[in-house]
This record gives sequence, structure tokens and C-alpha cells, in this order.
Amino acid sequence: MSDVWAEALLNLRKAAAVIDLEPELLARLSVPMRFTEFAIPLRMDDGRRLMFAAFRSLHQDATGPTKDGTRIRPDLGPGEIKALSLFMSIKHAVADIPAGGGKGGIVADPRALSENEYERLVRGFMRRLLPRGAFADVPGADIGTDARAMAWMLDEYEQITGRHSPAAVNDKPFELGGSRGGHEATGWGVAICADLAARELDLAGGSVAIQGFGQVGSVTALRLHEMGYRIVAVSDVSGAVADRDGLDVPALFAHVDGTGAVSGFGGAPGLASDILEHDCQILIPAALQDVVTARNAARVRARLVVEAANAPLSPEADQILLDGGVHIVPDVVANCGGAVVCDFERTQGLSNDYWDLAKVRERLAGRMEAAFLAARETASRHGVPMRQAAWAKALARIRSAMLWRGWA
Ligand code: NAD
Repeated sequence: MSDVWAEALLNLRKAAAVIDLEPELLARLSVPMRFTEFAIPLRMDDGRRLMFAAFRSLHQDATGPTKDGTRIRPDLGPGEIKALSLFMSIKHAVADIPAGGGKGGIVADPRALSENEYERLVRGFMRRLLPRGAFADVPGADIGTDARAMAWMLDEYEQITGRHSPAAVNDKPFELGGSRGGHEATGWGVAICADLAARELDLAGGSVAIQGFGQVGSVTALRLHEMGYRIVAVSDVSGAVADRDGLDVPALFAHVDGTGAVSGFGGAPGLASDILEHDCQILIPAALQDVVTARNAARVRARLVVEAANAPLSPEADQILLDGGVHIVPDVVANCGGAVVCDFERTQGLSNDYWDLAKVRERLAGRMEAAFLAARETASRHGVPMRQAAWAKALARIRSAMLWRGWA
């Protein structure tokens, strides 16, 4: 895996240059405010006792309580968690969310654990984290965790404190105070951004290829299909399917529900080449980071790339695409819909006023459009790519909060 922390710092420095960020603030934002590494002892089903390494990185809390997900992966490292906490600071500021950036994780392979071991691990994480609640640090879900894991984390927190506190944990089931529309939020946000950018480029209703058909890619595909776009190719870890006239996305959903994979759908042919190089107007990487690199960037044929995944383009690929006239909607704008609805979730938990799906969708659409247009306007004003502009606008907000607090 590439050095995501180094890539995050590179984006930070480029954005700092746009707004002439004071060197002492840049230095302060180049290290997490607090980084905790701890061990979780776990009793395995066969009686063995194992220790699992865990992290929580709080990047900065000048803009509000630190918030965001908990990642469980076997090859997780501290640099990845630090980088993701910085990304969350930026993403929250891009979307005008009054929150700082946080990220946590456990070095473990959930597939190698039994259901009981997994539950004990997640509960152990929450106990060892010494959670600090809705006004300090709010963990949520990420790769390797889901609503069920968040339910256990909330239950642990409430047992420790002896108080019901739905706003202390995000991404939990609706029955425990979760928000409607949480599962679809990131994909809806990606679709909104893709449509806004496509309209500017006269590509509305154009052809779309999507790498990844998980939580984000599948919802993005369905939403864009409903909005009149032609989804000409979709891939997942099993392979890819394509149709120049546009795939029947609702039928593809039914196929994936039944088989667990996109391959073999309706006799649609697979792809001779990589989906990233497919003939389409809009490319949406929605699977993994660093999938477009110096090796394949020149073969991307799309005019617009919308980053649904985090950091799907390496810095070299980013430059190659920009030099080739490709428009890029960066991850911190395109995929901030999940963070927006997590903020709605905390608001609902604090107020005990739970919204219907229509209200969540309407408010999400407003926030996505505002984030997109603000980044676009900053890009035009400073004559920089949208990624640098989004980071610069976010940094300016964080700087203001730090200055008001007298931290510089
Ligand atoms: P997911 O696990 O639900 O889905 C991932 C998809 O990618 C699956 O369809 C999988 O088969 C596919 N995939 C894996 N390897 C692949 C490969 N080599 N080629 C093609 N497809 C491959 O994950 P998700 O929640 O949809 O997240 C996707 C990306 O979006 C990740 O980078 C994640 O960090 C990012 N993201 C997710 C959210 C969210 O709310 N879930 C928010 C922001 C960013």
C-alpha cells in the first residue's frame, strides 16, 4: 500500500500554499492532536488469549468534537489511521459540519473471527478507548465494521456511563437512534456531485463506468440510473459486466442479491480491458484507493472522474489526468455525504427529534450542492484544481476556528 499519510500531508501542504497558512498552523495540523495506540486482550473461542493492536487518531478539535469511523483490517497501520483522521477534518470542513477529524481502527481480520470473538473484540475496543461521548469524540463505522458493531459499541458506552446517549456513537441501527438514509448517504452524495459536474461539462445523461458495487458503488449506480444516466459498466471483486446501451441497474441489484456478485449478470459480457480504461464519459472509482496510478492514468478515457472511494488516484495519476484535461471531483467533496448524514444522526440523537427519509434526502442534497459549488468557486477564484481548492477552503475554516480560540 502507498504511504497514505505522506499523500495526505502533500495535499495539506498544497492547500496551505493557496491560503498562505501560517507556518506554525501548518506544523500543528501536520501531526494529530492526539494519537492513541492500545492493545485489546481477547479470549478466543478455543480458549487462547490473543492481543490485538488498536488505534484512535484525533486530528484536531478546533472545529468541534472529533468524529468518524472505526476500521478493522489485518494490515492496518498507524499512518493510515492518522491520514484518515486528517481527511475527516477536511471532509467535515468541506461540508460545513462543525466537527473535527477522528478515526480509529483495530489490526484484525474480521473474517478470521467467529461472531462471538468479533463481538468481544468490538466491545473491548470501546472499553479500552475510554470513550468520551457526544461532545468530545464520536466513533462511527468504516471498513470491517457495520451497524451491528456500532450497536455493540453504543451498548458498551451506555453500560460504562449508565446513561442512554444515542449521539455518542454514529452509524448505529435506527432502533438505537440511528438516522434514516445513513446507508445510502455516500452513494446519493456521489450521484449528486457527478450530476452537478456532468451538467457543467455538458455530459448530463452520459455514460458511466463504476468500479465497485458495494455500499457506495451500488447506490451511486442506482441513483444515477434513476437520474437518466447510462451505466455502461460495473465491476466488483468477482469481475465486470458491461452494456453500451446501459445496464438494467435494478435487475443487476436483484442478481447481486441472489448471487453476491455482478459477474454472470443477464448474460452481459465481461470486459476485455480494465474497467478504469473503459470507454465512458464519467468514471467513478468506488472500491479501493490508488487504483489509478502513473502506470494506467494515460489510458483513462473518461472526461470526468468522480472519486467515490478515498484517494483512488495516486498524486502522479492526478497530475497526468489534469494535464490531459480530465475533470476530477475529489473524494473530500464527492464522498462526504456519509459524513453529512452522520452529522444529522448526532443532531437527531441530541434533540430526540428523528427525521423522515424525505427530510434527510432533501437536507443532504442541499449540503452536497453547497459543498460542490463552494469548492468549484474556490477553484475558479484561485485558478487551482478542485482538490486543492476544497482542501484550501476547509483549511481556511479550520484556521479561523483556531484563531478565534487563540491557538495561534
Ligand atoms: P464495500 O466493501 O461495501 O464495497 C467495496 C466494493 O468494491 C465491493 O463491491 C467489492 O467487490 C469491490 N472491489 C473490491 N476490490 C475490487 C477490485 N479490485 N476491483 C473491483 N471491485 C473491487 O465498500 P464501500 O463502503 O462501498 O466503500 C467503497 C469505497 O468508498 C472505499 O474506498 C471506502 O473507503 C470509500 N468510502 C465509503 C464510505 C461509506 O459511507 N461506505 C464513505 C466514504 C468513502
